[in-house]
Amino acid sequence: MSRKVTSIRGMNDILPAQTRLWQWLEARVAGVLQAYGYSEIRMPVLERTELFRRSIGEVTDIVEKEMYTFDDRGGDSVTLRPEGTAGCVRAAEEHGLLYNQTQRLWYRGPMFRYERPQAGRYRQFHQIGVETFGIASPDIDAELIILTARLWRELGLADQVTLELNSLGLAEDRARYRDALVSYLSEHQDRLDEDSRRRLERNPLRVLDSKDPGTREVLAGAPQLADYLGDEARSHFEGLRALLDAAGVKYVINQRLVRGLDYYGKTVFEWVTDALGAQGTVCAGGRYDGLVEQLGGKATPAVGFAMGVERLILLLEQRMPELAPEAELYIVSSDAGAALALAETLRDTLPGRRVLCHCGGGSFKSQMKKADRSGAWFALILGEDELASGLVTVKPLRQDGEQQQLPRATLATTLAAHLP
Ligand code: ATP
Ligand code: MG
Repeated sequence: MSRKVTSIRGMNDILPAQTRLWQWLEARVAGVLQAYGYSEIRMPVLERTELFRRSIGEVTDIVEKEMYTFDDRGGDSVTLRPEGTAGCVRAAEEHGLLYNQTQRLWYRGPMFRYERPQAGRYRQFHQIGVETFGIASPDIDAELIILTARLWRELGLADQVTLELNSLGLAEDRARYRDALVSYLSEHQDRLDEDSRRRLERNPLRVLDSKDPGTREVLAGAPQLADYLGDEARSHFEGLRALLDAAGVKYVINQRLVRGLDYYGKTVFEWVTDALGAQGTVCAGGRYDGLVEQLGGKATPAVGFAMGVERLILLLEQRMPELAPEAELYIVSSDAGAALALAETLRDTLPGRRVLCHCGGGSFKSQMKKADRSGAWFALILGEDELASGLVTVKPLRQDGEQQQLPRATLATTLAAHLP
């Protein structure tokens, strides 16, 4: 036998036993986004490397060590997208969607990061992301957060997640704060972990993110970003908080929340859970008013977020919502032609129902076993007798009740009345 080819580490197959939960989740998210008037946009998974370098920032984990970057056959440097915002901005700008109008967009799909694979962290993972353009006021920040809160209710996860909120201020606020932070941390260099010492020189705000106990002790006495916010950022943040309070959305202020991408300013937020160990952030986002201009467009305010689908799936698996079975009706027969014809008629008369027609022959007994395993509510039996009489035997598989013989003319209406 020849050697088998296996998948790449951190790149998962999503198997049929799991896709039903994925589809359930995706359908619910799509439903909520539709209810808020958001439109889907689909971008390519491959973009020019420059797009990510210029947006995410050179000195970030993603650009420094996580990107799948290679030269294509023409010699151009291309990158598998590590996130969706940059591509969404590029597409919206390229197609004139940002010209004199506002946009509420969403996308879904695989993202790629060369990280150490572990539970909730993969090299190919999926995000559902939302981006809005053209609105500078905090009402749109609030709308996005209210939307996510509704989503958790819809998914039955509301009691599993909490909202953390912070303001990063404007670029000039951050610059003043950065100076203060650097001079404070420099005095305590010897007590910082190695990663933080490196960040101190290249991207000091990220030190706030450190999980190292020694560094966290030092941070306890560090200057606070909140004290460096100017009037504009401060009133934006107060406006957002008032809107969230009015909407009854609970949050905690986390002064250490800085996010790993350079383009954020003003609002940043994360929905976190303690049910997933270290991979606790299920949804993260914020405002990025400077990015469109930074990528060559006209200055356009923007705010968005992305959620990690695998992490939400892990949470959902812990409470396993009731999913529709693979089949609702399973047709068992000794006559393939009659069975296929009955299945077609049922698909016409009971649209949306899952009708599985047994294929491949076999004894009545083995067909019934498969019917049972399919999860169907009813087996519909077309044996010799039924073919002669024109009736169909309906056998309940999931609930009590006698099997009955029904005329074909009323079969669909009777089934419709009894299907859950
Ligand atoms: P983390 O701190 O967990 O590395 P991040 O700040 O890098 O997350 P973002 O770039 O904000 O994450 O991406 C948004 C969401 O996408 C995250 O909150 C998470 O749910 C999910 N996510 C990010 N990286 C991965 C990954 N490698 N595998 C699975 N999900 C991921
Ligand atoms: Mg990360």
